[in-house]
Amino acid sequence: MRPYFPRVENGVTCFLIETNQGPVLVDTGFGTHDFLTPTRSMKVFLNLMRSPRNVNETALHQLRRLGYKREDVKHIIQTHLHIDHAGGLPDFPHTQVHVLKAEHDHIISHRSWEYHPGHWAHNPNWVLNETRDGKWYDFDALQLEGFEPEIWLVPLIGHTPGHTAVAIKQEQAWVVHGGDAVPFDMKVDEVPEWITKKMLGPHVPRIREFMKAHPEVKIVGSHMSLDFYEST
Ligand SMILES: [Zn+2]
Repeated sequence: MRPYFPRVENGVTCFLIETNQGPVLVDTGFGTHDFLTPTRSMKVFLNLMRSPRNVNETALHQLRRLGYKREDVKHIIQTHLHIDHAGGLPDFPHTQVHVLKAEHDHIISHRSWEYHPGHWAHNPNWVLNETRDGKWYDFDALQLEGFEPEIWLVPLIGHTPGHTAVAIKQEQAWVVHGGDAVPFDMKVDEVPEWITKKMLGPHVPRIREFMKAHPEVKIVGSHMSLDFYEST
């Protein structure tokens, strides 16, 4: 995307995790329908974000290039359900979709341009999660049961009412999809703090401290600069 503000070319991060239950997607970005047959509101959004409508960049097409079929994906985890994060859901209609219950409650009781109901018009097989008393480092968190490697949801509420980061255990440490709640690698530091807070929610200072204290944990935001993806 090349939004007018912040004026940095950026992507939409989707993770593919290879697990004991097959490939698991974290966020689905824009879907094939968003690019090929966009609704009017999606067209407006894509124009505002100046997003190239390249269907080859959707999660489904990228997975195919890696040798997977859509049926191979049994589980998707969504950090949240905003228009630019959940668009690929219809491309995987028979997949279990793990979200925080608070995010699901929000989308069924609340309409806003930031959500696109067409993304769940196929009635996904939702798995609704609530935090119990688990901890990931010192964050309240819950482990998704049955996955190897370990996958934890780390709720970071604020950007949306049910926004969560997703932490995946690696041999040495952790990789975290921080969704829209963590600092970008762009020059957001040059943006006034109140705007950062409005865009990303209240967790940015805590995450910055955490990243300093735990360089072994790799935290990736949803909208990193294109340079980031090319160098990772
Ligand atoms: Zn968002």
